[in-house]
Amino acid sequence: MRVLMFGPPGAGKGTQAALLVKKYNLKHISTGNILREVIRSKTETGSIARAYMDDGKLVPDDIIKKLAEKAIASCGFDQFILDGYPRTTEQAKWLNLFLEKHNLTLDIIVSLKVPDEVIVQRLSRRRVHAVTGENYHLDFKPPSPDVDPDDIIQRSDDHPETIRERLRVYHKQTKPVEAFYINDPNYVKIDGTQGLDHINDLIASKLMV
Ligand code: ADP
Ligand code: ADP
Repeated sequence: MRVLMFGPPGAGKGTQAALLVKKYNLKHISTGNILREVIRSKTETGSIARAYMDDGKLVPDDIIKKLAEKAIASCGFDQFILDGYPRTTEQAKWLNLFLEKHNLTLDIIVSLKVPDEVIVQRLSRRRVHAVTGENYHLDFKPPSPDVDPDDIIQRSDDHPETIRERLRVYHKQTKPVEAFYINDPNYVKIDGTQGLDHINDLIASKLMV
C-alpha cells in the first residue's frame, strides 16, 4: 500500500500518518522528520537545511530529492506513507517520474483541508516528544500523565512569525502541487477540522473500497 498525505503545515498529516502506520504496518516517510534527523547528525547538508527551516522556507529540491529517493528505496518501494512530500511542483514532477520508472501507483492521495486561522491555532499549541517525535496538542491531544514533561518540547519553527511565513510558502509553492493529483481516481479530499479518529476512519474506509 502506498499513501500520500497532502495539506498545509498543521493539517494533521503527521497525526494521521502515525495512526495509519500502526493500522497497516506502513513506513512513515516524513521529509520534515528526515530533515530534523539530518540536522541532528551535524553534517553540512544539515546546517544548510536548518537555515531554511528556521526561516519557514522550503529546503532546496535537490536535497529533498536525494532524501526522498533513499527513503522510498529503503522500504522496498512499497508499504509507505509520504507526509509533507512533494511540496513543490518540481518535487511532484520528479516523484511522478520516479513512480513511473518503478511501475508504481499511489493507492490513495489524501488532501486534508484546514483553514489558515485553525492552522495558526494548532501549530502554536503543537508540542512534540523530544525522543520519540510523537506529536501532541495542548488542548486536543495532550501528553498522557506518564510522559515526562521535560521531554515535551515546542518545535523551533512553531512560533507565530515562522508559522505565518510557512503558510505564505504553502500557498505560493505547495498548494499548486494539488493540481497534479486532483483528477487522479485515488484523490480524496477530507475536511481536516473534524476529530482525529473520525478522519482516520474516513481514510480507512476509502482504502477498503
Ligand atoms: P509541518 O509538519 O508543519 O508541515 P514538516 O515537519 O513537514 O512541517 O516540515 C518542517 C520544515 O521542513 C518545512 O517548513 C520545510 O522547511 C522543511 N521541509 C519538509 N519537507 C520538505 C519538502 N518536501 N520540501 C522542502 N522542504 C521541506
Ligand atoms: P502536520 O503533520 O500536517 O503538520 P500535525 O499532525 O503535526 O500536522 O498536527 C498539527 C497539530 O494539530 C498537532 O498539535 C496535532 O496534535 C493537532 N491535530 C492534528 N489533527 C487534529 C484534529 N483533527 N483536530 C485537532 N487537532 C489536531
